[in-house]
Amino acid sequence: MSAEANVGVVGLAAMGASLARNLARHGNKVAVYNRSYARTEKLIAEHGDEGAFFPAETMEAFVDSLAKPRTAIIMVKAGEPTDAMIDALADLMEPGDIIVDAGNAHFPDTIRREKAISARGLHFVGCGVSGGEEGALLGPSMMPGGTEESWTTLKPIFESIAAKAEGEPCVTHIGADGAGHFVKMVHNGIEYSDMQLIAESYDLMRRGLGMTPAEIGDVFAAWNETELDSYLIEITAEVLRQVDKKTGKPLVDLIVDHAGMKGTGTWTVQAALDLAVPVTGIGEAVFARGLSSQGDLREEAQRQGFDGPTGAIDMPAEDCAAFVEDIREALYASKIVAYAQGFNEITEAAKKYGWDIDLAAVARIWRGGCIIRAKFLNRISEAFESGEANVSLLFAPYFKDAIETAQRSWRRVVSRAVAFGIPVPAFSSSLAYFDGLRSDRLPAALIQGQRDYFGAHTYQRVDMPGAFHTLWATEEREEIEA
Ligand code: NDP
Repeated sequence: MSAEANVGVVGLAAMGASLARNLARHGNKVAVYNRSYARTEKLIAEHGDEGAFFPAETMEAFVDSLAKPRTAIIMVKAGEPTDAMIDALADLMEPGDIIVDAGNAHFPDTIRREKAISARGLHFVGCGVSGGEEGALLGPSMMPGGTEESWTTLKPIFESIAAKAEGEPCVTHIGADGAGHFVKMVHNGIEYSDMQLIAESYDLMRRGLGMTPAEIGDVFAAWNETELDSYLIEITAEVLRQVDKKTGKPLVDLIVDHAGMKGTGTWTVQAALDLAVPVTGIGEAVFARGLSSQGDLREEAQRQGFDGPTGAIDMPAEDCAAFVEDIREALYASKIVAYAQGFNEITEAAKKYGWDIDLAAVARIWRGGCIIRAKFLNRISEAFESGEANVSLLFAPYFKDAIETAQRSWRRVVSRAVAFGIPVPAFSSSLAYFDGLRSDRLPAALIQGQRDYFGAHTYQRVDMPGAFHTLWATEEREEIEA
C-alpha cells in the first residue's frame, strides 16, 4: 500500500469512527484500522464516500499507508487496550512518528506512556477530546499535550476538525506530556459541578416550589438568554420538557434517580487532594452522585422515616418568582466558584508537573464543541488574558461584581434550602468556600492548637516569628520556641 494517508485512526467504535469521518470530511487522507475488521468494513460501507479513507486489515498495512512523519490517533477502550495499541504501533513506527491517544486516559498514565515512547525516539501525545460522539463527528474541543515538535505536525490536522468558536478552532497545545489529559480531566470535573448545580436548582423549584418539570424547563430556557447561556442549561430545558410517549408523564419523573459516573470527576478530586487545592464544588458533585446511587442505604433511610421538613418551601405564591431569580443568581455565583477552583487546580498542577499552561487559551477552547461550552467562558478568557484572574478568577473585577451582586440571593437560597430540607451540597459548599476565602481569621488557629496539643506539631504566632510548642499537659502550660 502506498504511504499516502496524512493521519490514521486506530479504533473505530463510536468515537473513533466519528473522528475518522470528521477528518476525512475536512480533506484529510485517513488510514483506518480496527482490531476486528468488521468495524472497518462497516465504516467504509456506510461512510466511505465522505472522503479519502485508507482501510487496513492489519496494523502493518495501517502503518505502511501513513505518510511520514506518521501520525496515528488511538481511540480504543481506555486502559490495557490503549497500552496494547501503543506498543503495537511503536514496534512498527520510526523515530519522529507521532502516536496520539485521544481516549479518556488518566494523566499519570499519559506521563508514563510519554516517557516510555519518547525514549524510543517517537512522539507521544495524550489528547483530551470533549464533546462525545457528536462532537467527534461535528467538531470537538481538543486538548493535546506532548512536545512542541509534534504540535507543529498536529496543528493543521486538529484545527481542521475541531469545533469553531467565533471562527477560532477549539484546540490549542496545552503543554508537555500529561497536560492535555489533565486539563480534559478538570473540564470533566467542572462539568460534574455544572450538572449538580443545575440539578440542585431544579430540585429547589420542583420540590421546594412545587413547579412542574415543563414549567422548570421554561425557566431554564429563559435562563439560557442570560449570563448562564450554555449547552448544559439548554439541554436541561429540553430534558425537562420531554414527555414520556407511553404514559404521558414528564420523562424526568420516570428516570431512576441514581446518577452514573465513569471516573473522571473522581480523578479530578483525587488530583486536587494530592495538590491540596479545594475543589469543593466538584467534590460535592461527585459525592452527590455517589449518594444517589447508594440504593440500599437510601431505601433503609426511607424505612427509618426520619422526621424533618419535607422539602416544600413555605412561601407566599407572589414571592415565588423572586425566589426563582434568587436560584438563578445562586447558580451563577456557585458556577463561578467551581470554575475558579478548577482553574486553581490546573495552576497548581502546572507548577508541580512543569507545564506552561495558558489559562486564557484553555477557556477559549472550551467555548465550543465541549460539554461545558458557555457564553461566560469569553469573560473567563478575558480575565486570564488581562492578568486580572492570575490569583483567582474570583478577583477579576467582572466576576467579583457578579459574586457581590449574587451574594444576598445565594445566602437566601442556601438558608431556605437548609431550613426546608432540600440538599444543596454544591450551592452551600461553594458559598462556604467564598466565606472562608473572605474571612479575616479562620478557626484554623484552633486546629493548630489541637495539633500541637496531641502531636507537638508546633504552630506559628501572629505577633512574632518562629515555631512554637506549648507544654499543654504540664501545670504551667509553658510555651517554648521549637
Ligand atoms: P470503547 O471505549 O467502547 O472501545 C471500543 C473500541 O476499543 C473498539 O474499537 C474495540 O475494538 C477497541 N478495543 C477494545 N479492546 C481492545 C484491545 N484489547 N485491543 C485493541 N482494540 C481494542 O469505544 P468508544 O468509541 O466509546 O471510546 C473510545 C475512547 O474514547 C475511550 O478511551 C473512551 O474513554 C473515549 N471516549 C471519549 C468520549 C469523549 O467524549 N471524549 C466519549 C466516549 C468515549 P473491537 O471493535 O475489535 O472490539
